[in-house]
Amino acid sequence: MQAVRLVEPGRPLEMQEVPLPELGAKDVLVKVKAAGICHSDAHYRAGKSPVHPLPLTLGHEVAGKVEAIGGEVADFQVGDRVCVHYMVTCGHCEYCDQGTEQFCTTGKMIGKYRDGGFAEYCVVPARSLFHLPAEVPFEQGAIMMCSTATALHALNKARLKPGERVAVFGVGGLGISAVQLAKAMGALEVYAVDIKENKLAMAQRLGAVPVDAARSDPVAEVRRQTEGKGVEVALELIGLPETMEQAFKSLAVLGRAAIAGIGEKHFEIAPYADLINREAEIIGVSDHLAQELNHLIEWARAGKIDLGEVVTEKVPLEAGEINEVLDKLENFSEEIRVVITP
Ligand SMILES: [Zn+2]
Ligand SMILES: [Zn+2]
Repeated sequence: MQAVRLVEPGRPLEMQEVPLPELGAKDVLVKVKAAGICHSDAHYRAGKSPVHPLPLTLGHEVAGKVEAIGGEVADFQVGDRVCVHYMVTCGHCEYCDQGTEQFCTTGKMIGKYRDGGFAEYCVVPARSLFHLPAEVPFEQGAIMMCSTATALHALNKARLKPGERVAVFGVGGLGISAVQLAKAMGALEVYAVDIKENKLAMAQRLGAVPVDAARSDPVAEVRRQTEGKGVEVALELIGLPETMEQAFKSLAVLGRAAIAGIGEKHFEIAPYADLINREAEIIGVSDHLAQELNHLIEWARAGKIDLGEVVTEKVPLEAGEINEVLDKLENFSEEIRVVITP
């Protein structure tokens, strides 16, 4: 079969002819119908985060149809529509046992530590697969499994309850999902903070109150719109010290700030005024959990989340076109979400 693979970091991905992957007793062979090209893939190609063993087929946002099943697979049949949870976990270590399997001691992410979905076919254990309802297009099923899932995990980590107010800092791929999910979870109001007008407009169409951080101080604006109280939940999805501080300072008493934006730089907090005096919390967010994906898929089926606007382009399984998309992801800050449809 054909697969688009990382052969060497810092070099373009290459199309290679590889054997069809072997199918274990608990595995499922998926014919890939859609594979999202994620910003992480640009990092992998550039060598900014490790990928091994090389060469390796990238692609961790995958949806498709079951082509074949191993002898011990009971939950799936040939022809089923499926989407893939990108973490392949053991299911029995301490972390898997307690339902925090993103820390599985032998966990391997597809498209990073084992072959992923930039290919005609992909093999995954049945326990990493979810049924994709007919109402959800393959493209949306694929990208849902990364940024939308992480947005949901962030809201869950922040313990969002119905009737609470949410501020989302950064309405790119994660943020647009976060706005819709917060609404689906019963948030009273969602404030979408960004500096790009087109992103703010999209967030507003999805029911959020736009806060243009290029024109006003977002902390003051969020406080103004909440009678000075602030929000119970703030999500930081950008990864900059400035936006982390803003998210934290926007909190109401007993507020929770969930940080999912990846950054290396330190940020500052005023311990008495902002943390102690409000009994506020700062919470780290890493990946997502398999059990959260069922909710996500159900909300997508019911139309409570719709990623139709998020998918901006489709490309064939072809190395040149995929490399071009990765170049764009590297060079432009504009949000684009391209899906490979082999
Ligand atoms: Zn991704
Ligand atoms: Zn495990």
